[in-house]
Amino acid sequence: MLIDTHAHLEMREFNDDREDVIKRAREAGVEYIITIGTTIESSRDAVLLADKYDFIYAAIGIHPHEVRDILHPAYEIIRHFAQHKKVVAYGEIGLDYHYEHSSRTDQKRKFRDMLREARELELPVIIHDRDAHEDTMQILSEEWSPDLGGVMHCFSGDLAMAERLIEMGFSLSIAGPVTFPKAEALREVVRQIPIEHLLIETDSPYLAPQPVRGKRNEPAFVRHTAEAIAKIKGLSFDDVARITSFNAMQLFGIGTIPERGQITYPIRNSLYLNITNRCTASCTFCVRYHTDFVKGHNLRLGEEPTADALIKEIGDPKQYAEIVFCGYGEPLLRLDVVKAVAAAVKERGGKVRIDTNGHGNLIYKRNILPELSGLVDGVSVSLNAQNAETYVKISQPKFGIETYEAVKEFLREAKKYISDVTATVVAAPEVDVEACRRIAEELGVKFRVREYNVVG
Ligand code: SF4
Repeated sequence: MLIDTHAHLEMREFNDDREDVIKRAREAGVEYIITIGTTIESSRDAVLLADKYDFIYAAIGIHPHEVRDILHPAYEIIRHFAQHKKVVAYGEIGLDYHYEHSSRTDQKRKFRDMLREARELELPVIIHDRDAHEDTMQILSEEWSPDLGGVMHCFSGDLAMAERLIEMGFSLSIAGPVTFPKAEALREVVRQIPIEHLLIETDSPYLAPQPVRGKRNEPAFVRHTAEAIAKIKGLSFDDVARITSFNAMQLFGIGTIPERGQITYPIRNSLYLNITNRCTASCTFCVRYHTDFVKGHNLRLGEEPTADALIKEIGDPKQYAEIVFCGYGEPLLRLDVVKAVAAAVKERGGKVRIDTNGHGNLIYKRNILPELSGLVDGVSVSLNAQNAETYVKISQPKFGIETYEAVKEFLREAKKYISDVTATVVAAPEVDVEACRRIAEELGVKFRVREYNVVG
């Protein structure tokens, strides 16, 4: 599923073949389109389109090009449109110093007005910023409050601006320019920013992506932007489609977000298993304290799955690079299930990895690693810190200060029974990554640093 979060389907460029354009979008896997008003008239037309098609939603607002003629009654009209149930955002609004069709003074005053209107209407905002980064950020910072959110459409700023927007709770929408050969700076922002903060859009009929550059853009082409992001972030196309759609559904309140936790979930070309939400640690960076979702998958379980249910849902394990025990909890708390499922996967020719906190031997008060021999191809163990004190501070283990040495011992023992053993750390501020790397070397295991803000 893809969502084009910013198209102008109501524009005259689509008058001759709008139906065909919409049909092609659906055929290309575009599940929802948000069509964006830029004037009073186009906001009205956007609402009419949204009224006609289940899968089209509308945003209403006045583009900075058009604000010079806007008098107060315009806001009353926009307010009236906002009552329609398919209106999901206020926009596009903002600043455009590239063309300056309206004076900067007018643009700035009316941008503030419309931000306040959006807050009163409880709608997320869709912000246009072209060659006006400094003033856009200044106005947003001054007008911001926790109940004002939204998206910077067709983001074109630098990493510092992206990070500031994310701190304020805004999303960044990535459009066709990310595919342009000279857009390395934008690709670097996309590389650095967690995908949980990204949306995708076409801005059609403008800004056609590289493979169709020069043509009129249309929602079906949002696929090229998703492909580019997948390449930049080392994810699959399906991952990008699912995650950016989830982000859009959350922001605009459209579509159906999965309510039940999943017991298996694909990321890239691996299948992850979510077998428990219990854990013997309470890591300060653990994402399960903030959200039920990882990469667009709901991982909050109603009940723990049986081995049979997991085996059934895995199907043919050879279709994945690996079957990974991971999820929202410590998988080795369910050692019997891990062993039964791993045996079934191995029997069918699959590869098995376990992501664990390394507390297994403390949980069972015995060395469980011989029991995993022949069942598990790889294990990633959260070393998490360079010494016991830091480990306790970060991981808050149930077994206290002795846990750190037990995790190191788990890694040492794992080497004897599992061919591929990796110690991992999350690059949290208090972690001395180089000291952790040396410990992994001493233990004779591989080492991997996980980004602080990247999950899954
Ligand atoms: S070990 Fe994993 S699941 Fe448990 S608290 Fe830490 S990050 Fe969360």
